[in-house]
Amino acid sequence: MSVAARANAVLRAAILRAADDRHVQRVMRRYGMRLGAARFVAGETLDECVAALHRLAARGLHANTTLLGESVRDRAEAEAVAREYGRVLERLHADELPCNVALKLTHLGLELDEELAYKNVERVVEVAERLGSFVRIDMEQSSLVDATLRVYRRLREAGHDRVGTVLQSYLYRTERDLEALLPLAPNLRFVKGAYLEPPDVAYPAKADVDAAYARLVETALRGGVYAAIATHDEALIERCLAVAVEVGVGREWFELQMLYGVRPALQLDLVRRGYKVLVATPYGPEWYPYLMRRLAERPANLAFLARNLVRG
Ligand SMILES: Cc1cc2nc3c(=O)[nH]c(=O)nc-3n(C[C@H](O)[C@H](O)[C@H](O)COP(=O)(O)OP(=O)(O)OC[C@H]3O[C@@H](n4cnc5c(N)ncnc54)[C@H](O)[C@@H]3O)c2cc1C
Repeated sequence: MSVAARANAVLRAAILRAADDRHVQRVMRRYGMRLGAARFVAGETLDECVAALHRLAARGLHANTTLLGESVRDRAEAEAVAREYGRVLERLHADELPCNVALKLTHLGLELDEELAYKNVERVVEVAERLGSFVRIDMEQSSLVDATLRVYRRLREAGHDRVGTVLQSYLYRTERDLEALLPLAPNLRFVKGAYLEPPDVAYPAKADVDAAYARLVETALRGGVYAAIATHDEALIERCLAVAVEVGVGREWFELQMLYGVRPALQLDLVRRGYKVLVATPYGPEWYPYLMRRLAERPANLAFLARNLVRG
């Protein structure tokens, strides 16, 4: 690993660890939105988010939205989140936005009770089905991958098709998970992975994560998966697009996904080249852990926050 790559990896781990610190949390929750969280989060309310979604749609971009939140350990709260997602889907439909939703199962109570999370996500998927929309189940820490894939598989076996999930290329297990999912003809988003994982479960070296990513997308495209190629890594995007041509799959079999506020010029450039590009556009008051993961992905973002601090 080069010195720069090693420094980046150390900073990444430090930011993800600091995210749990009470003092860091207090300061960031108080000043973070002003300091720059607004670059990555489309507001604290659904109305603010919908305004941002209209701006994206006007530029030819698709989107998914997420009511930010995770690790809900109260049954009533988890059920309220599921009802709120129903309302979000209704609003997106009423506004005729090219936008679906992505959610986290721990926001729907997974750490409390898997059955509760299943019932909650099924309720959201049923609303999406009625409205012709779609639900993406995000992937969280490695300790939750088994449960997340169980819930996804159960939804599909119950006949729900308008649902997909996510695979993370940094995990050693993911190539096996993909093989096991192929018979379902799944809709899968491929990401590198955003959490702090130990070297016994995840590749520590970025080059290995990138190589695994390309292998996964190739297996997916050859295997009848609808692939959401979610990365800002331009070289990797070009590699995946070349694989699609090589394998002979049409553009209706994949889409490119990026995060709100990250590489917006590249997003538009890909739209101009005729690709479907979806921008993951989250909102809500619970933006803190999301922002910390975005900072960890690119420690240079800390400088962006610091500049805003100096400017006041
Ligand atoms: C649509 C979408 C959904 C995702 N869903 C999940 C999920 O469910 N579970 C999960 O674990 N992870 C998820 N992620 C995050 C993902 O795992 C990576 O942490 C993140 O995408 C950064 O990796 P990268 O692929 O962009 O490549 P990197 O090699 O990290 O970055 C490539 C280049 O992109 C730019 N870049 C990347 N991140 C940022 C940033 N935060 N700010 C500014 N520039 C940046 C930089 O120019 C960087 O050099 C998602 C990512 C996307 C795009």
